[in-house]
Amino acid sequence: MDNPFLNAQQDIDAAAKIGRFDQELIKVLKVPERILQVAIPIKMDNGNLKIFHGYRVQHSSARGPYKGGIRFHPQTNMDEVKALATWMSLKCAVIDIPFGGGKGGIEVNPKELSEKETECLTRGYVKKIFDFVGPEKDIPAPDVYTTPQIMTWYADEYSKLAKKKTPACVTGKPIDAGGSLGRDTATARGGQFVLEKFLQISKTRILTIKTVAVQGFGNAGANIAKLLHSAGYKVVAISDSSGGTINKNGLNPSELLQLKKKYKEISNIKNIQRISNEKLLKLSVDVLIPAALEDVISEKNADKIKAKIILELANGPVTPEADKILAGKKIIVIPDILASAGGVTVSYFEWFQNMKKQKWTKKQIDKKLMTKMDAAIIAVYSASKKFKCSLRQAAYILAIKKIIDSMKTKGVS
Ligand code: NAD
Repeated sequence: MDNPFLNAQQDIDAAAKIGRFDQELIKVLKVPERILQVAIPIKMDNGNLKIFHGYRVQHSSARGPYKGGIRFHPQTNMDEVKALATWMSLKCAVIDIPFGGGKGGIEVNPKELSEKETECLTRGYVKKIFDFVGPEKDIPAPDVYTTPQIMTWYADEYSKLAKKKTPACVTGKPIDAGGSLGRDTATARGGQFVLEKFLQISKTRILTIKTVAVQGFGNAGANIAKLLHSAGYKVVAISDSSGGTINKNGLNPSELLQLKKKYKEISNIKNIQRISNEKLLKLSVDVLIPAALEDVISEKNADKIKAKIILELANGPVTPEADKILAGKKIIVIPDILASAGGVTVSYFEWFQNMKKQKWTKKQIDKKLMTKMDAAIIAVYSASKKFKCSLRQAAYILAIKKIIDSMKTKGVS
């Protein structure tokens, strides 16, 4: 397994070389400003006390408060969270919202916790990081295996400790707890806008009926599968952590979601044609969408990838080594810091509405999101032409420039 933090640093170095940025400032940008590591003791339902390890990494506040999700996953670790926080700083800059980057994680398998234990863990985490977070300091959101319900517990616990109702302390809340319309589908919707704008401006030759394979069937993956299916794409394969399903004639993602709800995992569903996660990545499709975890396309399998376009809804699914192999095969990679920026963009809209006590309509949100995503892909595409580099390097160059411009204004020492 690659170290995602080293990968993030490597990508920053590569872009900094092309963009000829001040190396002193790049040195600062490559390390997080603050790292919190906390132990959270929880009384489990069986009466035993268990200690969970939690992280919050605050990467850069040059452009605004730290912003980024919280992940509950058994394999999460400090290097992963540091990488995710770094990508958040770059993502917020490339999409041009006034936030820096942060990320959190707890080493836990949430599938093994009861609802009560999950609530205690969330509240315990807030208690431990409370002094360092808040609406003007650091605002978390959902990520892998964290849900709107978890964000509600987060907001409630934060509000109790602050002795003031503070919905803007976290985003991705349910609507009745101060959430924003469109946040649930925002990551996928943003990805769809970027993909469609890219096809339009790059004049990429692609068939009218586009085939798609999606790895990951949660917030990002299930919603992009549904949106692209509704837009006329043929979604031929979908997977979750248990494995996948394939149908050359096209799957119906909404129906598959109903079955997943009933059977919990795709591998438990009966009478479907199966495909492994590894094989799904190697399908000959127009658009491959990794929407699960990082490092799934590495130097081990990159030469077997046959998709024309990779739309990265997951953070860090393609390693730097794989990027080089894919570039050699002329496979276009629409990078995570751009393709998956819809989530944090609508999180910004949610935070803004909370701060200003406003309520925007779904139509307003969708329009504002489209404007942001279109502007970002147009800028990245044109930078890739200007610098004769990949879309990832172009996105990094634009993001790094914005962050170091703010660092210069504020001063770094
Ligand atoms: P989620 O918890 O809603 O869904 C995760 C999905 O990935 C599940 O279907 C799970 O079964 C699947 N999965 C887990 N391990 C897997 C494996 N080894 N192989 C295949 N599938 C696996 O999480 P999400 O919010 O959809 O996040 C998915 C990715 O998208 C992450 O990289 C996350 O950082 C990124 N992302 C999410 C958001 C957001 O708003 N939720 C925003 C930007 C980026």
